[in-house]
Amino acid sequence: MKTDRFDVVVIGSGPGGLASAIAAKKHGARSVLVIERDVELGGILLQCIHNGFGVEIFKEDLPGPTYAQRFINQAADLGIETMLDMMVINLSASRRLTVTSKKHGFREIQAKAVVLAMGCRERTRAQVRLPGTRPAGVYTAGTAQRWVNVEGYMPGKHFVILGSGDIGMIMARRLTFEGAKVERVLEIMPYLSGLTRNYVQCLQDFDIPLNLQHTVKNIIGIDRVEAVETVAVDENWKHIPGSEETIPCDTLLLSVGLIPENELSRQAGVRLNPITNGPIVDANYHTHIPGIFAAGNVVHVYDLVDWVTEAGFTAGRGAALYAQDKLPKTGQVIQTGAGKNVRYVVPHQINLANLKDEKVPLQMRTTHPIEKPVWVEAHAGSRRITRRALPYARPGEMITLNIKPEHADGLSQAESITIQIVER
Ligand SMILES: Cc1cc2nc3c(=O)[nH]c(=O)nc-3n(C[C@H](O)[C@H](O)[C@H](O)COP(=O)(O)OP(=O)(O)OC[C@H]3O[C@@H](n4cnc5c(N)ncnc54)[C@H](O)[C@@H]3O)c2cc1C
Repeated sequence: MKTDRFDVVVIGSGPGGLASAIAAKKHGARSVLVIERDVELGGILLQCIHNGFGVEIFKEDLPGPTYAQRFINQAADLGIETMLDMMVINLSASRRLTVTSKKHGFREIQAKAVVLAMGCRERTRAQVRLPGTRPAGVYTAGTAQRWVNVEGYMPGKHFVILGSGDIGMIMARRLTFEGAKVERVLEIMPYLSGLTRNYVQCLQDFDIPLNLQHTVKNIIGIDRVEAVETVAVDENWKHIPGSEETIPCDTLLLSVGLIPENELSRQAGVRLNPITNGPIVDANYHTHIPGIFAAGNVVHVYDLVDWVTEAGFTAGRGAALYAQDKLPKTGQVIQTGAGKNVRYVVPHQINLANLKDEKVPLQMRTTHPIEKPVWVEAHAGSRRITRRALPYARPGEMITLNIKPEHADGLSQAESITIQIVER
């Protein structure tokens, strides 16, 4: 089998992959290839026809496909090669890929550097262990989104949505636009799991009730969903007897979380973080396997696409420099860690060299809502390096704290930085 050779190969053509490819080309990689298993470039954005994309990068409120098209055009202008309808099925630590498609069969590709940009997939019924019969009419919210927005099918008329993730809330509004009735959104946690703006614009504006601390106790129906039995839960997710309610419906949508798509990362031996389920990366989004970088939802689940694009730019630049043997190899490494009220921090380490002339954005999520003014603080031992004031901290909204070149002196002896969120 003939082996194709590229400086940088990007797996996945969502915003993370496209930005990586563009940055790789701009930073001197001669040959850049994007491999996409779908028949079009753009990733999940192609089915996100609502607005809300690009507010940070373009200062414009764009629909997903428009946002994607801007990067698809740039990639074409830069001469980036693409393989569509082509699935990467194997990746080795030496950056050898096996790909396959109906049209081309199996092919081997050798890359000097690889960017993992495979995105996420949705949790399904089995993963949240929903009891009841197994009728038609139980779908993930993203599947329904693809049917309605791309394929032109309505999955039902009368919906209950489990989970207050962004996809579920956006679909509650979308289905209402299409004439369906969305009875209820149920959330097992005592707080919203998606963005507040989606709660206001997609549920409140359309009078769709949200029941916090509620879940599905039973799915009823043989051939098709006929109803769901809901129940209130306590803080340990135990059902509260007597709180059951039967809601007639023909469809149950699940918006119960996303899982970074890391089968290829595991094959290559990339170390994963148990909290994010994504690769452990440094400030160049370099994994611990030399020449393998990662960007976007494959690393951790982002709230806004703009930050995915920025991560892609960083990973793509790193991959291009690696391919040209120009990525600085030395330098003091500082681990980043989650302190009080912080669930995780990405990237997981900073090389002090990164702070020479640019900031390193640390991204994180809080463990629980703090509806009071907070400080987000970075500490090296007992020393506070920097802090940022925020009006509140919510799990659905990613927080960024920039470590800047002027902080480098304070970190010159440090082995780690801990981030904490505390009330002001
Ligand atoms: C329903 C929904 C609504 C959203 N709304 C907003 C919003 O309003 N505003 C906002 O800013 N953000 C929003 N987001 C978030 C944003 O869309 C995502 O953060 C972003 O698309 C993630 O980009 P990505 O490149 O990491 O992954 P993706 O866009 O998922 O792209 C990954 C790509 O990799 C491909 N792939 C995976 N495995 C392989 C393989 N083995 N071989 C080849 N190809 C492979 C996939 O086919 C896919 O095309 C929304 C997300 C969703 C799901």
